[in-house]
Amino acid sequence: AYNFCAGPAALPEAVLQQAQAELVNYHGKGLSVMEMSHRSADYVAIAEQAEQDLRDLLAIPSNYKVLFLQGGASQQFAMIPMNLLRGKSSADYVNTGMWSDKAIKEAKKFCQVNVVASDESNHFRAVPAFESWQLNSDAAYLHYTPNETIHGVQYDFIPEVDVPLVADFSSIILAEPLDVSKFGLIYAGAQKNIGPAGLVVVIVREDLLGDVLKGTPTMLDYKIHADNASMYNTPSTYAWYLSGLVFKWLKAEGGLSAMAEVNRRKAAKLYAAIDASEFYANPVAKPNRSMMNVPFTLANPALDKVFLKEAEANGLLNLAGHRSVGGMRASIYNAVPEAAVDTLVSFMTDFAKRHG
Ligand code: PLP
Repeated sequence: AYNFCAGPAALPEAVLQQAQAELVNYHGKGLSVMEMSHRSADYVAIAEQAEQDLRDLLAIPSNYKVLFLQGGASQQFAMIPMNLLRGKSSADYVNTGMWSDKAIKEAKKFCQVNVVASDESNHFRAVPAFESWQLNSDAAYLHYTPNETIHGVQYDFIPEVDVPLVADFSSIILAEPLDVSKFGLIYAGAQKNIGPAGLVVVIVREDLLGDVLKGTPTMLDYKIHADNASMYNTPSTYAWYLSGLVFKWLKAEGGLSAMAEVNRRKAAKLYAAIDASEFYANPVAKPNRSMMNVPFTLANPALDKVFLKEAEANGLLNLAGHRSVGGMRASIYNAVPEAAVDTLVSFMTDFAKRHG
């Protein structure tokens, strides 16, 4: 079967097979990675290798810390203002969908939030033109969501701003090469393109650390985690290990340029199938169509249930759109092979013929 879930999402089959082979007796050590002390030499080696492989994949500059934390991307919505306001009282946010909206709501608990641009009145179908953004030079940082997982809206540019740039890369990290040096902080929940749920990866420029809001809990202070190599407390050890296997797999596949090539092809095939038929529609402005999350509707919503049932019977799983928007959504992350998209496109074409 092919899994089009938005998250927790498909993992590369080769990674799952390797994990299965290593599950009970890791490299002949007589125990599972799940049972290892996070302080043991064996586990520390696994953790350090995972970080190094991620650094290699994204060419992360040495003045950035890579943190493997818990609490999901949602906890970052609070940690970001707590850590990055650094004496300032406001931050700039762009609203391009439900995830940026959630980040905005959480930040409002800590500071004045300037929504510098919003596509809400357009039902989140495009990224507002950069020239229209009302940026503030005294903002502590600018936060945006490069890929809106629910609305399927992706930025086709990296904002050039004078304040630290903060981005929620949850559903687009590792899909293509990225210039990390343009950012103050990047974060991503693991359960899409990184690994299993239970982990969030934070990549943060060192000079932004160490000036937290008064009262910030120890566990929500990036510097504490940076100073302790993400082992201030017991980390999500098994998710970290599996993410490491994914990083190795990505390297073996040729790295992020190779991934990007396949990802672009997969997305192009799916959007072409949607556009070729009156039966399917995607409302997002073409330059902002997501490479990872492809929402689409059927001309007759009464057929939604039939579509999902038949898809499942054909081994095409988890195609229902987010509960807040309905319709369909195919998430085509790195681990979803091109053959999955080909199979989905044939199924869609055939379904439209039979029901259109
Ligand atoms: N941000 C984006 C863009 C997401 O897609 C998601 C989850 O789907 C989140 C944040 C929330 O992530 P988590 O469930 O890890 O808190």
